[in-house]
Amino acid sequence: MTASTRLLIVGPQGSGKGTQGVRISEAFGVPVVSTGDIFRANINGGTELGAQVSEITARGDLVPDELTSEIVRDRLSDEDAANGFVLDGYPRNAVQVGHLDDFLGGRGEALDAVILLDVPREESIGRLQLRAHEQGRADDTVEGIAHRLDIYEKETAPILDVYGERGIVDRIDGVGSLDEITERIFAALAARGLAVTV
Ligand code: ADP
Repeated sequence: MTASTRLLIVGPQGSGKGTQGVRISEAFGVPVVSTGDIFRANINGGTELGAQVSEITARGDLVPDELTSEIVRDRLSDEDAANGFVLDGYPRNAVQVGHLDDFLGGRGEALDAVILLDVPREESIGRLQLRAHEQGRADDTVEGIAHRLDIYEKETAPILDVYGERGIVDRIDGVGSLDEITERIFAALAARGLAVTV
């Protein structure tokens, strides 16, 4: 089978992209590649990379682009990502979009769709404060949340214009039940000829 499913899921912090990313990955039989998860696993595992990024991520700042892109290139080179993947949290700014384009273009590949989970800022903040209580993440403080949302609005939201010009963005209403939102995503992907295979 040669069908590919190369997806990016984008949305503000608290939009539910982690949860939906896993659901998409299971339905299409492709791995989720979440830069946030990779960084947290390295921090918890006490690796050299973890030591390099722990203060940056705790502040809610972005890890340097070249370092982040190198990690993603490595991960996407693994065999399980050969026919597709769901990128979550990367690319997060224009420079990273260029890095990903270079990498995928070099392999004759491109993203098939970009799923934008649309959630109002107030809703994001509410959900993140809840998560802060449940998961105790170092960056889920009131200041950390506001800082990350600011970076999202300034640096990440503009990448949607770039992908929008390519005609690959599906804007999904991210308010509703988890199942409703999953259905909306699957319907949008099906309309692109990307049908659930697993
Ligand atoms: P959230 O979306 O809630 O901010 P993530 O799990 O996606 O959380 O990311 C957590 C942190 O990891 C970010 O605040 C940032 O410090 C770092 N990070 C994740 N992805 C990237 C990226 N693409 N570029 C730079 N830093 C990143």
